[in-house]
Amino acid sequence: MFRAIDQIPLQEKRVFIRVDFNVPLKEDVIVDDRRIVSSLSTIRYALTQKAKIILASHLGRPKGQVVAACSLLPVAERLSELLDEEVVFPEDCIGDSVKKLIQDLPEGGIMLLENLRFHPEEEANQSHFAEKLASFADVYINDAFGTLHRAHASTHGMVPFFKEKGVGFLVQEEIKFLSMLTTTAPKPFLVILGGSKVSDKISMIEKMMNHAPTFLIGGGMAYTFLKAMGHSIGKSLVEETKVAQAKRILSRAETKGIKIVLPVDSLIAQNFEAHSLYECLPVGVNWHNGMALDIGPKTLGLFKEYIQKAGAIFWNGPMGVYEMSAFQKGTLGVAHAIAEGKSVSVVGGGDSLAAIKASGLEKNFSHLSTGGGASMRFLEGTELPGLKVLEN
Ligand code: ADP
Ligand code: MG
Repeated sequence: MFRAIDQIPLQEKRVFIRVDFNVPLKEDVIVDDRRIVSSLSTIRYALTQKAKIILASHLGRPKGQVVAACSLLPVAERLSELLDEEVVFPEDCIGDSVKKLIQDLPEGGIMLLENLRFHPEEEANQSHFAEKLASFADVYINDAFGTLHRAHASTHGMVPFFKEKGVGFLVQEEIKFLSMLTTTAPKPFLVILGGSKVSDKISMIEKMMNHAPTFLIGGGMAYTFLKAMGHSIGKSLVEETKVAQAKRILSRAETKGIKIVLPVDSLIAQNFEAHSLYECLPVGVNWHNGMALDIGPKTLGLFKEYIQKAGAIFWNGPMGVYEMSAFQKGTLGVAHAIAEGKSVSVVGGGDSLAAIKASGLEKNFSHLSTGGGASMRFLEGTELPGLKVLEN
C-alpha cells in the first residue's frame, strides 16, 4: 500500500510534487486549465502545512530539447493567479541555479520547475538525472495520475531516494473510483470502448474479461472487430495487424459467455469530411468504398439498453468522429444515456472528456479520469510503475 499526502509530515519540509500540467496551449494561451485546477487541493494542503513546494511536470513533446512553445511559463502564471500566491519559475528543472532558488524558498513558498522533458534523461529514466532531481527535496508526492503508467525519472527513477513518499489527493481520488468499479460498485459492470487507438485499447478487453460480463464496442475500434467477423467494412478505420487478435477475443468471449456488443448499423460517409454525403446502413451491407464515421440509431438503441441496466460503467473513446457534427449522435447519445442513468460512471480519455464537456453533462458522471491510458492499465490490473515505486 502507499500513503496519501495527509499521512506524511510536511512541516518545513521541501516537498517535490510531480503534477500533470500538460495542458493544451494555443500560442502560449491555455485553452483548458482543468489539469491545473485539479491539482489545487493537493498544493493548497501542502501550503497549509507550511511546506516548501517544488512542482514539476512535462508539457507536450519537446523530445529532450528546449522548445519555447513547450515552456511551462504560461502554466506558472495561471497557477499563480489561481492560488493568489507568487510562483517562482526557474529557467530549467535541474542545475545549480535551481538548487540555489530552492535553498532560498521560504516555508509556504511555491516553485514550478521548467518542463522536465527539455532533458532527454527524463523519459529515459536516467539514474543520475533522477538522483539530482531527488536531491532537491525531502518528501516525494505524485499527483500526476496520467503519468503513472510510465517509468520516467520524475515518476519512477527519483522515487527510491525518498523515505517519505506518497500520492496526492488527485491520484487518491482516481484510484478510489477505479477500484470501486470492479469491487464495491453495483453490478453488472459495463465497459464501453471506442475511439481510434485500437492497438492501445484492444488488449484491455482481453485482460478485463474476468471483471466485466459485457463490452460495448463503438467508434473506430468496432470496424476491426467487424472485419474479423468477415464483414465488408469498406474504407472504415481498421488496424490490419489487430484483426487476428480481434478474432481471438471474439472466440474467447463466446467460450466464456461474455458479450462483445458491436454495431449493427453505422453512418457510412463517402469521404472523411464534415460535409460528406452519408447514409445509415446495416453492418456490411452496401458499404462499398464508404467509411463508417458513427454508430447508427439501431446500435445506439441497443447500447442504451445495456447502459440502463448497468450498475457501474467505464467508458473510454467516442462512438464516432464527434468532432464533425454529423457524426456525433452516437457519442452524445451514449453520454446522455449514462448521464440519465443511476450507474457509477467513470470516463477516461482526452477526446472522450472533450465530447462530454461539449455536451454539458460533466456533472452527471461520477468521475472524469485525468488519465486515459493510466485508467485503462489500472483497471485491467497491469502494474503502474509510478504507483508500484511508491509502496512502502
Ligand atoms: P480518447 O482520447 O478518448 O482516448 P481516442 O484518442 O482513442 O479517444 O480516439 C478519439 C478519436 O477517434 C477522435 O478523434 C474520433 O474522431 C476518432 N474516431 C471515432 N470514431 C471513429 C471512426 N468511426 N472512424 C475514424 N475515427 C474515429
Ligand atoms: Mg485521444
